[in-house]
Amino acid sequence: MIAAAPHEATILPPSIARLNELAYNLWFSWNWDALGLFERIDVEKWKQSGHNPVRLLHAVDASQLEALSHNQDFLDSYHRVITRLDAYMNDPAWYQNHHTDAGYVQIAYFSAEFGFHESLPIYSGGLGILAGDHIKSASDLGLPLAGIGLLYKKGYFTQKIDASGNQQTELFPYDFHQLPLHPVLQDDKQLTVTVDLTGRIITLLVWAVRVGRNLVYLLDSDHDANNEGDRSLTAQLYGGNQEMRIAQEIVLGIGGVRALRALGIYPNVYHINEGHAAFLALERLKELLHLGLPFHVAVETVRSATVFTTHTPVPAGHDTFSIHMIEHYLSSLFREIPKHKQDIIGLGLDHKSHQFNMTHLAMNTSGLRNGVSKLHGQVSREMFKEFHGHVDASEVPIGSITNGVHLDTWTAPQWKELFDRFLPGTWRAEQANPHQWEQIDLIPDESIWNVHQHLKGELVRYARKSLMEQRARNGESSERIEEVRSYLNPKALTIGFARRFATYKRANLIFNDLYRLRKIINDPDRPVQFIFAGKAHPADYPGQELIREIYRISQLKEFLGKIVILENYDIHMARYLVQGVDVWLNNPRRPLEASGTSGQKAAMNGVLNFSVLDGWWEEGYNGTNGWAIGSTGAADWAAQEKENTRAIYHLLENEIIPLYYNQGEVPHQWIGRMKRSIQSLSPVYNTHRMVQDYTTQTYLPTAKRARLFVANQYEVATKVADYKQFIRTNWHQVKIMGIDDQSDKTTSEIPLDEITPSTKVITAHIHFGPIWPQDTAVEVIYYEENGELWEQKMVLMSPIGEIVDQAQRFQATIPSHLIHGPHFSIRVRPISNNFAHSFELSLVTSTLT
Ligand SMILES: *Cc1c(COP(=O)(O)O)cnc(C)c1O
Repeated sequence: MIAAAPHEATILPPSIARLNELAYNLWFSWNWDALGLFERIDVEKWKQSGHNPVRLLHAVDASQLEALSHNQDFLDSYHRVITRLDAYMNDPAWYQNHHTDAGYVQIAYFSAEFGFHESLPIYSGGLGILAGDHIKSASDLGLPLAGIGLLYKKGYFTQKIDASGNQQTELFPYDFHQLPLHPVLQDDKQLTVTVDLTGRIITLLVWAVRVGRNLVYLLDSDHDANNEGDRSLTAQLYGGNQEMRIAQEIVLGIGGVRALRALGIYPNVYHINEGHAAFLALERLKELLHLGLPFHVAVETVRSATVFTTHTPVPAGHDTFSIHMIEHYLSSLFREIPKHKQDIIGLGLDHKSHQFNMTHLAMNTSGLRNGVSKLHGQVSREMFKEFHGHVDASEVPIGSITNGVHLDTWTAPQWKELFDRFLPGTWRAEQANPHQWEQIDLIPDESIWNVHQHLKGELVRYARKSLMEQRARNGESSERIEEVRSYLNPKALTIGFARRFATYKRANLIFNDLYRLRKIINDPDRPVQFIFAGKAHPADYPGQELIREIYRISQLKEFLGKIVILENYDIHMARYLVQGVDVWLNNPRRPLEASGTSGQKAAMNGVLNFSVLDGWWEEGYNGTNGWAIGSTGAADWAAQEKENTRAIYHLLENEIIPLYYNQGEVPHQWIGRMKRSIQSLSPVYNTHRMVQDYTTQTYLPTAKRARLFVANQYEVATKVADYKQFIRTNWHQVKIMGIDDQSDKTTSEIPLDEITPSTKVITAHIHFGPIWPQDTAVEVIYYEENGELWEQKMVLMSPIGEIVDQAQRFQATIPSHLIHGPHFSIRVRPISNNFAHSFELSLVTSTLT
């Protein structure tokens, strides 16, 4: 149903006709020879198009194209690129090679934003770029995955900074026919689906963007059939109030599932990328209820096929809506299945705030859940401990898969050329294998430094140009414009800080001691300079204040040309920054940066991370591959800020600057650190590793469970649902009636030779009520001292003797040396082979003796 080339495609001479295919496949965005091909068509028009090949092809004259179609040089490049594209699209990849026996797997990845390339501005920041990089690696790896998102007519916003440092936001409506988008066709017309919003039927156009082998379907409410207000439902990313937000989320979740059905796609893995998309579960529930499934069986069926990734380590960051709004906006759903209105509200209800929480909905309807770094997994388990009722934080069923970035997108072509020369030929395909990166050591320091200095030069040129344009637009004097030419010294140690200006990221931390900073920056022998960039959400006034403050400081005489702030941070600028600076600074309040990814992009380009041990850096830092901004992890923000500030200045003055300026033209020790950084971080923090982790840890087990659950008329789903209901109803009868930790060895059924002076036998007498003891695990829990930490140990107890009066004895041996008297506990929990996780039912009966 996807036309090979949309109606809008330019008519091309036959010998270069496949440029259209290239222009409409975002594969071009991470293949520099493809980008180079477009640039060669017309450098100026390529820039004017915003690196958008569809616009470029529309803009060039037929005569220009005709000339190119006879230019042998161009044709040679064209054929090389097309041959590579064909191989990419057709050759078996990792998934085909390693998971031939996976059975039917179809993944749908839902996300409110996707950042693929500057030519398709439907992202705001890290979440979107992560989603974009996920799709790219899914394509590289050959995964059967389709994306679902929204197509924003005006994108996020374009940022300008005026002559007083105020952020100005601009919105342009995009012409979708000028973007690398395919209208999805059905009977020669663009496919539409509908959703009902408070009684109004909204018609949604379905578009597709091709990303390598995969398609991402995007919904767009700008259709004649809708009223003016509804036509702009999908106008802006994160643009409106709560009403707009819930409407967009209904379009994404419910409209998204309907679009899949209209396309004939029946996934058995639904990936909810952040709570925004969680309404997808409700549409699937409704489908199953219409088939006649009881509610609890429908919920189990939905859960079995759902994966949820949470990205937000603070409760306030999670989307919530009032119950009233839910009733209003989901009224058509509730009309269709009136019996289950309260059940559905219950799936998202946060009992404490009495709000409908999208994260709760996602948790209640997903079998597997994860945070985006090890630390964030831990923070999420703490945060949702209460949600899970009775389990220890360490056992809350939320895992972690650490984010990565798409290496081919973010690594400068000059680096890739070096890697092609010095690393094994398989380094790209097997980038997640650390051995592929060992030979980084073979690259001569001079080559590394040349590439880095070149990229730094490009960044300086780019930054000056951007600042000059900004000043010219702001009507500043020609002197002020000309003086930018001397800004930024390509030889000075350059530190980059670019991110959304959310206050927790503390962009102004470095300014806490301006006197000390002035000395650092203005050392004539060892100069240092800073480049800042980032957008603040239009409603985030403290964030905009940060921009003003940095701008004001950048205009102080002693910092002029040494601290600069660039406007309109986007994917295009990010490439220059993460490839061109020497050091990437990141100093969020810990643990509020769930992962962070810009530092991963920097690392791949030999840029050294200088970061608070938060998010991914907590696990990425190894002592030799960058710097950690130390802190004791103080929970008190003010104390943390003090510690971090002190550490930043201290490290700059005593380690970073001396190392950089250590050895003449080619700083070998610095380069050594760059090598350690590339070697240790590139194989781990790329999206190939990440998507492989998602595949083996979540997608494949989920697809398997989902197939199992629906087989034989939902036999297993029914069994699990009934079992859970039965256990929930009767669990209160499970009681630990007695414990004996010095049991008479002669009555023990544990063989005598297993009992040594250093162990002791524990016996527990447990009452189960109507629950079958085999449906539970009875465990002894104790703690062993391990260095500074107390490590939890768990020993499964075995049943002994008969079941008498719904009760049975259990035994296990544990070490007898436990220091603190009888410090162990017994716990009983329900188990099932069909659970996705040991604590899927968060019911635990436990007694501390
Ligand atoms: C990578 C990237 C981000 C996310 O970076 P963080 O480290 O998570 O702050 C945001 N915006 C752009 C344009 C990016 O390229």
